[in-house]
Amino acid sequence: MLQAIIDFFKNLFSSFSGDSKDATSPPSTDPVDIPTTENELPEIVDVEPQDGADMPLEELDEDVVLVNVEVDVPVVDEPPVKTSDPDPPKETTPEHTPRYLWILDNGHGKKTKGKRSPKWNDGKQVLEYELNRGIVKKIIESLEKEGVQYHNLVPEENVGNILKTRVARANALKVQSDLPPVYISIHSNAGPEDQAGNWSSAEGIETWYYRTSLDGRKVAKIFQKHLISKTRWVNRGVRTGMAFYVLKYTSMPAILTENGFFNNKKEGRKLLEEETRQLIADAHVNAIMEIEKYGFKGFQG
Ligand SMILES: [Zn+2]
Repeated sequence: MLQAIIDFFKNLFSSFSGDSKDATSPPSTDPVDIPTTENELPEIVDVEPQDGADMPLEELDEDVVLVNVEVDVPVVDEPPVKTSDPDPPKETTPEHTPRYLWILDNGHGKKTKGKRSPKWNDGKQVLEYELNRGIVKKIIESLEKEGVQYHNLVPEENVGNILKTRVARANALKVQSDLPPVYISIHSNAGPEDQAGNWSSAEGIETWYYRTSLDGRKVAKIFQKHLISKTRWVNRGVRTGMAFYVLKYTSMPAILTENGFFNNKKEGRKLLEEETRQLIADAHVNAIMEIEKYGFKGFQG
């Protein structure tokens, strides 16, 4: 067991080389206990809430929590073959053969402060963590049906941003998975407030990638295309430049979708609706299915 743990970390720390990101390694990680069961999960120490965007990296100070990462491989049942049947039925729709491992990052947890809209007159309010997780849940429901491989990166709800943990878990998955991983971080945006300090006039959808990641750029373009065609919301394009922590330190193609502005009075209200969340989830799934089918390397968008 001890040797297994040592090997695990040797692999883990020798693997931060992917996708031409210029980060050679994530910020130093203090010794980490690898839990062997769920019950042994060390407590997650939270940091001040922020998206990766406005994060002074050196101020991040949180423990890294790794969980046992098990990649489920779907079991494909062999159809029974009746040897006595001279004309066996033709195979129906072939099972989807998973091509990538989709790492789904829901961005925030319950302990993330801020990241909420003002309240509407009826007292309703968007909590970004709840919105992101609602969308991720719907994406997962579809990926299950499609037979696509995914990993819900932070199922625990009572956490904050835990960015280091998100990165550590994703990079550990890369080591363990037979399929190449793609990292999708799902968020909603907040714009500058109006003069009364309330709602924002900013609106629309944008998708971020890390500036030196050509793969990330292609994946971002595919997602942005589907997000706009599904929602018909304002197209703010694919973007890069800001140092989103999870985009920089993950060792795989990684994007971050900002699905509308939750503090825009009109757009935020729509984000409360299940139908809107389903649309956004469907757009993510359509992008995933395009890449499952064609890959992203050859995308010329
Ligand atoms: Zn966010």
